[in-house]
Amino acid sequence: MTQADTRPEKIWPGTAVSSGVAHAVVHVMKDDFDEPDEDPILPEDVESDLARWHKALEVTRVEIEALQKVMADEQGGSEADIFEAHLLILHDNSILKQVEKTVREKLICVDAVYYRLMCKHMDALRGLADSYLRERFLDIKDITHRVMRHLRGEMLQHPMFDDPVIIIAHDLTPSDTVQLDRSKVLGFALETGSANSHAAIIARSLALPAVVRLHNICDELHSGDPVLLDGDEGLLIFNPSAATLAKYRSREEQSDAREDALLVTRHQPSVTTDGYVVNVSANAEFIEEMAAIRDSGAEHVGLFRTEFLHLENPDGSEDWLADCYTQAVKAMSPGEVIFRTLDIGGDKVDPNMNVAAEPNPFLGWRGIRVSLGMKDLFRKQLRALLRAAAHGRVGIMFPMVCGVEEVRAARALLDECATELRREGHAVPEEISIGAMIEIPSAALSADLIATEVDFLSLGTNDLTQYTLAVDRLNERVADLYQPTHPSVLRLIEMTVTAARKAGIRVCICGEMASDIEITPLLIGLGLNELSVASGQVARLKHAIRKLDATECQTLAADIMQLGSAPEILAKSRMSAIQQYPELFV
Ligand code: PEP
Ligand code: MG
Repeated sequence: MTQADTRPEKIWPGTAVSSGVAHAVVHVMKDDFDEPDEDPILPEDVESDLARWHKALEVTRVEIEALQKVMADEQGGSEADIFEAHLLILHDNSILKQVEKTVREKLICVDAVYYRLMCKHMDALRGLADSYLRERFLDIKDITHRVMRHLRGEMLQHPMFDDPVIIIAHDLTPSDTVQLDRSKVLGFALETGSANSHAAIIARSLALPAVVRLHNICDELHSGDPVLLDGDEGLLIFNPSAATLAKYRSREEQSDAREDALLVTRHQPSVTTDGYVVNVSANAEFIEEMAAIRDSGAEHVGLFRTEFLHLENPDGSEDWLADCYTQAVKAMSPGEVIFRTLDIGGDKVDPNMNVAAEPNPFLGWRGIRVSLGMKDLFRKQLRALLRAAAHGRVGIMFPMVCGVEEVRAARALLDECATELRREGHAVPEEISIGAMIEIPSAALSADLIATEVDFLSLGTNDLTQYTLAVDRLNERVADLYQPTHPSVLRLIEMTVTAARKAGIRVCICGEMASDIEITPLLIGLGLNELSVASGQVARLKHAIRKLDATECQTLAADIMQLGSAPEILAKSRMSAIQQYPELFV
């Protein structure tokens, strides 16, 4: 830990995307390296540690000189001079001496010593009005990042942590998340992101507090700094004072008492006062969540996002996959696990696929398009799912379908895999429910056609909202326009429910909108009979459903569908929710 104790408390406001509070030291993930922890070294390891650092300095020198040459050839003298300044910083004698001395005397790994010293220089220059000095700050930052990258290895996996940490990063992609030692992560504080990014969704699934839009936080904090992360109010508090900690302790006691009261009834069915049954199931990304899901009161798993297992081990064999899926199925038995086939693409990029960068990934090669384009990968997954189905109830659904042909093509491949497996002597049950996700407007508009081909529909409202409104779900600049209660989104939901009803099949919402208790009266009024949410939300949602009258909800929904704007709709549904279950709004 640094000498944080003497520094005053400081609060940064951001946007809360996953509730809860965590108090721990931070681990800072830079774009191209993770900030080093102050790991101790043995006296006999000092020389090899310093040699490693000298090698990194040397590789950095070669890299900068090469850049300098390219610049000089392309643009002549002045631009190349910038690199002269970089080389001077790299070879600064006082820095070199200070680092060696500290490593020898304090026996701390050179990564941390060098990084902390460079940060001290940067901190002294950052925020100065003088533009020349601010440029020097950027020079030091650039050099430090280069050396750190070489010191820690370009392809470094994120480290395992000895103690619990709060992760600080610019952004957290799904592939970053799978590499983290999640058993030690207590929360996420990110510079960018939105409530609908997968980092936020995962935080909610794992019941970890998360705050986004904490601009420049990666430069303000260093690994080892103590913070309190407040995922309810959206605050990050550096070095919280005793008074702040006491305030949070008492708040936590009150909220624990409220949660405990909800948990008492979590295993009871969720039926409205007039007898309408609404199944509440849970969303999952990792097998380790199954125990929490079972304990949450969820009837089953309504959405298992299989991308995360894939990203953990992209070359995993069919046997390995079948084993993972089987573990999930057994853990939920006799409940069903609905696995969504791979939804790679968009923000869930698999770096191993070596796919050329796309100008517009959310409108590109994603979901079922990738699966139908990479048949071997798809077959491996389908075969593994069918094998897992021998051990419990499995549902399979296809993501990002834009019409009925893709559903037919995917089903045909599934049937082929089942025949193949049976021929090989595997037991494959006849009854496996097959579903399609409705998350593209074209799929909602042709839901009646799709409904005749499947056993259930599942509305992916995170994407349905972004595609209907042409609002990138990750783009904070247009976040205010991301409105799941927009009349157009609700009409597509209504259309999908009607199609499912006509075909006599189940219809669920598994997007984040399902857990928003302000709109539960509206969703029930629209005829949804299943909602799939993060496990931490299950007890609360079941409680809300038990307080509602489905017939009244239908009248409310009919009125709401006449309204013209998302805020009006939200306000009306919210008012009804507050009347029916005010205890959930304290
Ligand atoms: C959705 O789009 O609502 C959904 C559940 O899928 P994802 O969030 O993984 O895209
Ligand atoms: Mg989706």
